[in-house]
Amino acid sequence: MQTVSLSQLTNQLEDYEYFVIDKKVYDLYLASSLNDKTIYLLENPEQEKSLQSFEKICCFFLDKNIKRSDTLVCIGGGATTDLGGYVASSLLRGIDWVSVPTTLLAMIDAGIGGKVGINTSHGKNMIGSFHMPKRELLSSDFLKTLDKTQIQSGKGELLKYGFLSKDIFQLIEENSSLDQIIPECIEYKKDIVEKDFKESGIREILNFGHTFGHAIEKCSGVEHGLAVALGIKMNLMFFSTNLLVTFEMLVKSLEISLPEIKVDREEFLEYLKADKKNKSKDKIRFVTVKEASQTKIIDIEIKQIEEQLADKAYASFFR
Ligand code: NAD
Ligand code: ZN
Repeated sequence: MQTVSLSQLTNQLEDYEYFVIDKKVYDLYLASSLNDKTIYLLENPEQEKSLQSFEKICCFFLDKNIKRSDTLVCIGGGATTDLGGYVASSLLRGIDWVSVPTTLLAMIDAGIGGKVGINTSHGKNMIGSFHMPKRELLSSDFLKTLDKTQIQSGKGELLKYGFLSKDIFQLIEENSSLDQIIPECIEYKKDIVEKDFKESGIREILNFGHTFGHAIEKCSGVEHGLAVALGIKMNLMFFSTNLLVTFEMLVKSLEISLPEIKVDREEFLEYLKADKKNKSKDKIRFVTVKEASQTKIIDIEIKQIEEQLADKAYASFFR
């Protein structure tokens, strides 16, 4: 999949009527071209990933007479594509949707692959479904206005692909541009998703770095992709110390600045235990990479994790 220029992308949007758009993106890029469309704007997409906004958005489009044969176009970062995609998955028992991801993280991960959902008081993405977009429209022009933290977060997620795909590893190693790397990540993810849409098999490997990563994200508040990068580092320290050199090389090539974090060990363990991907209450599920792009899923006893994390090698992660 190739990215297109912003003007090509806006031309393609002409075909559609119904939109959910991140307000910041709308103001920056789309206000003049989409002014005659039916648009629900999200002022704070992450906060609006809730049941209350879900209902508001559904009612907004029902008031505007949306039909089952219509398509909802969702334009924004991962919060917008998650929420808008979830609306599309249930409105009128499911209508088609088009994903237009505008952050690096959403382009290579959140906005493609059809996992959609909202947050609840029980945690992030606890209500959701699998609803594949009919189409994805990509323009790397959107990346120009992302702040440094968002770019860094996207690159953290990108690091994951460097361990899963030899082709992406090579592109990063050669210092290829994001314009070259992004389409490869998308192709890689789409290939996996095609084989296992509902994550009952190979799709699980896309969670590489996310078991520790999610716990780091929740305990430290650091951005998702950067937490994943730290989660990958911790994962390699645990299971594949031979790849730590590769990690350092990829971090350097991508110019990622890993944040210094210190999390509470007990809280961290509690989040690991609560991971919704665990298959039993005493074991934590991990994706491991032994050699470049050779993955294995393993379940490790919580007790063993606690013991290993007590080792001084991990001291820098904890208070
Ligand atoms: P986001 O959607 O909250 O966007 C981050 C910020 O960037 C927002 O303030 C937004 O207004 C702004 N923004 C968006 N596009 C911009 C642009 N082109 N220029 C300037 N600013 C822009 O966050 P995100 O990092 O894209 O995505 C995180 C979300 O994705 C989380 O809700 C997470 O749960 C979800 N997620 C979903 C999946 C999945 O498979 N469905 C995977 C990973 C993450
Ligand atoms: Zn992720």
